[in-house]
Amino acid sequence: MRFCAGLIFLCAILGFAQSDDDLEVMRAKAGIDKIRSLVESGALPRAQLEKAEAAVEDARDAAILRKTLYGSDLTEEQSNEMIAAAGRRFERRTKAFDDAKKLVDAGVEAQASLAIHMDDLTLAKKECDLAETRAKLTAQLAEMARNEEALMARLAQEPPDAHRGTERFDGNGVFTTQIFNRIESLYQANFGKAMPVSAMGDTAVHRAMGFDHTGRVDVALNPDQPEGAWLIQYLTDHKIPFFAFRQAVPGKATGAHIHLGPMSTAYKLGG
Ligand SMILES: [Zn+2]
Repeated sequence: MRFCAGLIFLCAILGFAQSDDDLEVMRAKAGIDKIRSLVESGALPRAQLEKAEAAVEDARDAAILRKTLYGSDLTEEQSNEMIAAAGRRFERRTKAFDDAKKLVDAGVEAQASLAIHMDDLTLAKKECDLAETRAKLTAQLAEMARNEEALMARLAQEPPDAHRGTERFDGNGVFTTQIFNRIESLYQANFGKAMPVSAMGDTAVHRAMGFDHTGRVDVALNPDQPEGAWLIQYLTDHKIPFFAFRQAVPGKATGAHIHLGPMSTAYKLGG
């Protein structure tokens, strides 16, 4: 998968250890105090301090990206933080490139000095693209989870049959990993592609919304598309429990999907 290859590439460049994050920020901060006193005594130009401060901000953003862009599981809030951090890093590198280009244009620096800034800029752009892809997936997952959340609320108040836009099938109530593996390989054999699983068990998004999705799987298929209809038929034939969520607003991405397994349970709030 291209996304994964890009991810591995960037992880390798940026390094992974989270414990290094704080260290990096601390190092940059320690440098600033020294520079500040030198600037105040007139030994260094003020621009040097601004540069050091930007480096601290950048180290902070790099730490955010390590935890989000290259982390395993995201909430929507973290996803927004990730997009913002990637955007700021791109802006900083664009500015650094523009500044360097001015020096080249003025004949102060050689053309070759631009190469490193160009590389940084390319990498920052890749980070932005990855962040966007990741944020889009998180948003889709959150939309599906919101649909389930709304259904759970309705089920708690209304008779079981009264859930609009949602098809419910209790089957024999059993959904296991073995069942899922069988469905997945049958899907692959039938359609020649992987089944688009959007949430495998519990996720940060579900936890943030207060419900336990453990042992459940969401498949990003509209129940009315051929693949979705096939899946529903299979689940029905084999008495496997599912919930099919249709689009509430035609033409809009509203979290249509098929949830495999019984409905999630709500975490107990506040003890
Ligand atoms: Zn689900």
